[in-house]
Amino acid sequence: MSNQFNHRAAYGTWINDMRNSALPYEGWPSVRLDQETEQSIIETIELISKSGFNEIVLWGLFAAYSWPLDLTSAIDSERALRIERIIQAANRCGIKILTGIGIYSWGFDTIIESDPEVRGTNLHAMCGSKPESWEWMKKIIDFVIKRFDFDGLHLESADLGRCNCTVCDREGDVEYHSRITARAAQYIREQDSSKILLVSLCGYIPYYKKIAANEIQYLIEMSKHIDYLIDGGHNGYFIDETTLSAVIEQLHCDFGTSGGIWLYPPQRWERLRWFLPYTQKTGKHIKQLYHDGGRAIEYYLGPIINPGVEMNIAFGGRLLSNVDREMDDILAEVVTELYQPMDTETCASLVSIFKRAENAYFDHWYDAQDSPKAELRQLYVSEFYGNDLQKPTYLAEAPEFNRLMTRIMMDARGRERYRTELNFILADLLALEANTGSKGRMERLRICIQNVIKDIDETIMKSTDHHG
Ligand SMILES: [Zn+2]
Repeated sequence: MSNQFNHRAAYGTWINDMRNSALPYEGWPSVRLDQETEQSIIETIELISKSGFNEIVLWGLFAAYSWPLDLTSAIDSERALRIERIIQAANRCGIKILTGIGIYSWGFDTIIESDPEVRGTNLHAMCGSKPESWEWMKKIIDFVIKRFDFDGLHLESADLGRCNCTVCDREGDVEYHSRITARAAQYIREQDSSKILLVSLCGYIPYYKKIAANEIQYLIEMSKHIDYLIDGGHNGYFIDETTLSAVIEQLHCDFGTSGGIWLYPPQRWERLRWFLPYTQKTGKHIKQLYHDGGRAIEYYLGPIINPGVEMNIAFGGRLLSNVDREMDDILAEVVTELYQPMDTETCASLVSIFKRAENAYFDHWYDAQDSPKAELRQLYVSEFYGNDLQKPTYLAEAPEFNRLMTRIMMDARGRERYRTELNFILADLLALEANTGSKGRMERLRICIQNVIKDIDETIMKSTDHHG
């Protein structure tokens, strides 16, 4: 058998992040579950199954910030039917389906507002020391695992912070989050030992920090109760990389990442507005992670109608199911399947277009000028909170309109070079159109590249205005 990851999970994350049409007027994360959401999820499940993934993880089937107090009214009959059909599609495709569940946070806003017995210092997170908080946690777990037949759960406690009351504050972040999460995991296992349990360290500690050596013990203890652990670092690992292999060896569960680089898709943006394949960057990371002992990946999805997203998924799944494969060989296979090139030269040119488009961005982003190069993992093409939703943050240097990304992404010189490269790529692409079988995909590819060039043009115009 080939060397492969045990947990090859495709990560939603929220149900409309992979939606094939934009939701420009809804706040993120939208938990709308309509025909378009359902259809997009099912098509994505079919793609990941063909690509080599074996799990999918979805948030937002039940709630986002707020469960209703009775819990059951989160799911009306139409929603229930849609969820059933999504679960059936996963079963049919041989994909295990996991749902995200917030541990003490994500989903508790109304509960915290109405029940003083769970209230601590955080409006989005229950107090981790009060008995009533645990009672609510159990109620939600019971509801989720009894209402539908999911294969597992993604547990996450830290994304919206934690309680810092005087009792909770006795524990450091790693100890605190590991304690409440391990308790939930144990409880789920007592109810149903067949559930796959994954824990994401997303937000566990501040993103510029590493987990201290004396705190690793809390991860090891928690790892006894789960199937795999995903390091949620956005700037490299939370675990000190020099000790990574040793820590992985001590864990009682599989360990992994989100693929080394990922783009968080903007729910409100037109789906063909960006084009960022990153097969070379994620491929290199996946091979290294496997070498270091990692056996799990929670790989970010996006709207598969976007050709860059589709390529990232089709490539990632194949590499995860055979990490020894040559990356160019995988690219050629995917291009052949999706674009039906008429000869080997056309195939090679399309492969090179995906690689050149990746380099055209990453060679010219601002960090490329730093030494040593900062390892940014989570990339936002646009802000997704607030009022500046139409701005292409990833092409810009003004961090003031982006609270999530405080660094300069691209400066004027980078933008000029990125645009020049894209114009060459576009010319090459147009010359290939007659030699491929998939006109629809070729057209979407062209529109994406043209839209990025348009965004660069507008960003350049704006910064020229601004500076005078
Ligand atoms: Zn507290």
